[in-house]
Amino acid sequence: MPPLPELPAQIQAVLNGIPAMVGYWDKDLRNRLSNDAYGEWFKADARQMHGLHIRDLLGEELFAENYQYIEKVLAGEPQIFGGTLVDADGKTRYTQASYVPDLQGGEIQGFFVLVTDITERVLSERRQQRDVDRYRALARSVPGVFVLLFDSELRYLIAEGQELETFGYRSDEMEGRLIHEVLRDNLAEELEPRYRAALAGQEVSWSRRIGDRMYRLTAGPVQSDGETVGMVVAVDVTERRRQEKTWAGLHEISTAIARNAAPADIAEQVAVVVRSIFDVDSAAVSRFSGPMVADIVAMAPALPSVLSRRHIFAPTDAPATVRVAMTGKPALSVYVPGGGLAAEQMLAAGFRSSAAAPIRVSGSLWGALALTSKSETNLTPAVLNQLAQFAELVEIAIGNAEARSSLELQASTDVLSGLPNRRVLEERLARETELAAAEGTKLSAIVLDIDHFKRVNDSFGHLTGDKVLAAVAGRLREVARQGEVVARFGGEEFVWLLPGSNSEEALQAAERARLAVASRPFEGAGTITLSAGVCELQEAGALGILACADHALYASKHAGRNRSMRYRAAVAAEAQQDRSA
Ligand code: GH3
Ligand code: MG
Ligand code: MG
Repeated sequence: MPPLPELPAQIQAVLNGIPAMVGYWDKDLRNRLSNDAYGEWFKADARQMHGLHIRDLLGEELFAENYQYIEKVLAGEPQIFGGTLVDADGKTRYTQASYVPDLQGGEIQGFFVLVTDITERVLSERRQQRDVDRYRALARSVPGVFVLLFDSELRYLIAEGQELETFGYRSDEMEGRLIHEVLRDNLAEELEPRYRAALAGQEVSWSRRIGDRMYRLTAGPVQSDGETVGMVVAVDVTERRRQEKTWAGLHEISTAIARNAAPADIAEQVAVVVRSIFDVDSAAVSRFSGPMVADIVAMAPALPSVLSRRHIFAPTDAPATVRVAMTGKPALSVYVPGGGLAAEQMLAAGFRSSAAAPIRVSGSLWGALALTSKSETNLTPAVLNQLAQFAELVEIAIGNAEARSSLELQASTDVLSGLPNRRVLEERLARETELAAAEGTKLSAIVLDIDHFKRVNDSFGHLTGDKVLAAVAGRLREVARQGEVVARFGGEEFVWLLPGSNSEEALQAAERARLAVASRPFEGAGTITLSAGVCELQEAGALGILACADHALYASKHAGRNRSMRYRAAVAAEAQQDRSA
C-alpha cells in the first residue's frame, strides 16, 4: 500500500473547523484523512489516525454494528444512518452518519465519512416529547379538562382533550397553526393578550362559558425544551360552581332559619337560591293546602300577574307540581294548551316546561319545589334528579322553621285571647325602653282592666266570661296601630305598648279602646266597660312605666271606672285629695 500523503495544512484547518467527524477511509478500511473531531471523540489526533484500520478505531463491537454500511458503501451505495456510540469518555453520543463512496474510473477507491453529533437535538426532542406526552396524558386522563400549549408565535403546539371536540375544535386542525388561523368569533383577539402575558411569565386566570358549561381557564408559562412556551389548562367547573352556589344558598337559608325567619320567608329564600343554582327562568315553592289545592308560597322572580297564587287542580292537569301532589314523586312536564288551568296560565306567562320535586315535612307531603323554563328542553331527568336532592335539604329547613314557629306561637301567645302573652310583652317592653332611651324617642304604656269582671262571671258564668275576654281582646287589637303591642297581662288585664307616642297621644288611644269596648254590648253579657291608666316613659320614675300606668289605672277605678287617666293627673289628684283631707 502506497504511503498516505499528508493533507495541505489549510485543508486540514478547514476540516478541523467542521463541527462533525470528517474522514476518508480507503477500500482497505485504512484512514487517509480525519479532522479534530475524530480525535476528540476517539482520543486520537489526526497523525495517529493516519493509516489506522477502521476496526482499530471503532473497536470490535462498533465495527460489527457498522459493517453492514461499510459493505454497502464499498459496493457503491451511499449510506445515511443514525446510531449511538460511546465515546472515549464513556458518554453516549447520538450520531447521524453519512458514508459516500469514492468512485474513480468506475472503481471504488474508498469512502468519505461525515458523522454529526446530534446528541443535543435527540435529547431535547425527547425532553419535549416527554413534556408533550405529559400534557397530553393530563388532558386525556382528567375528564372535563383540555390543555393547549402554544409557542411564542402563538402557534398551538398541543391542543388536547375531548372537551375541545365538544366545542367544534379538532386537535389535528389546531396543532401547528396560529391561534388567529384556528379560533373563531374573535376569540383569538380576546385571548392574545392573555397568551402574551403567559409567555411573559405571568399566570392569568379567567372564566368563560362555553356552550352550556362553565370553564375556569389558566394560562401560564412552562418550559419545554429549554424554551418558554405558554400553556392553557381549562377545567370544567360547571358542577363545582353549582355546588358552591348550593352551599352558599344553603348557608343563606340556614341564616334565615337562625334569625327565626317565618316559613314563608324561608320559602322565598329557597326560591331565589334554587333559581340561581339551577339557572332557570323561575323557581317556586308551593304548599299543598288541601286535597288538590296548591298555594304558591314563594316564587322567584315574583309571581307573574297571569298566575294565580292558589291553584285548585284536576287530576288530569299537566304541571309537574300537580303530578307531585298526585304521586309524591319528582316529575317533569311540558305545558300544552288544554293541559288544565295552571298549564294555560303558565303558557300565558311564557313558560314551556316544569320540573318539580316533593317537599315532605314530618313524614307527610308538605308541598313541592318547582323549576320552570321558557324552553321545552332545558329541564332534563338529570336536572330533576338534582332538584329532588335539593328538595330534601329544603325539607329540613322548612321542617325546622315550621316546628320552631309553632312552638314559639305556643310559647308566646295566650290561648284564650290570641294576644301575645306577658312574657312577650316584657321582652318587648325591655327592647322598646332601650330603643327609646338610645334614640330619644317617646314610649307610652296603657294598662287596661275590665270593670267589675267578677260580676260578669257571677252573672253569666265563666264560659261567657271567657268569651267576653276574647271579644274585648279582639276590640283592643282593632284599635291598636302597627308597631304597637297589645298583650294579655293576666286575668282581665291588658297592656298596650305605644312606641313613638307621648302620654297625651296614649291617653287618646286609651280612650279609643275604652269606647271600642263600652260603645257596643257583648253577646250574652250586655255592656261591659273598662278603665285605663296611661304613663309615658319620661314621666315614669324608678317605679317603671308599667307600675306608673297601673297607678293611673287605680286612680281611674277610684274615680268611678269606665275612664282613662294619665299618671301625672293621677298624682295631681292624689295630692289634691291629700290637701283636702
Ligand atoms: P274592678 O277591676 O272593676 O275593680 O273589678 P273586678 O271584678 O274586675 O275585679 P278584679 O279585677 O280584681 O277581678 C278580676 C276577676 O276577673 C277575677 C276573676 O274571676 C276574673 N278573671 C280573671 N281571669 C279570668 C279568665 O280567664 N276567665 C274568666 N272567666 N274570668 C277571669
Ligand atoms: Mg277588673
Ligand atoms: Mg283585674
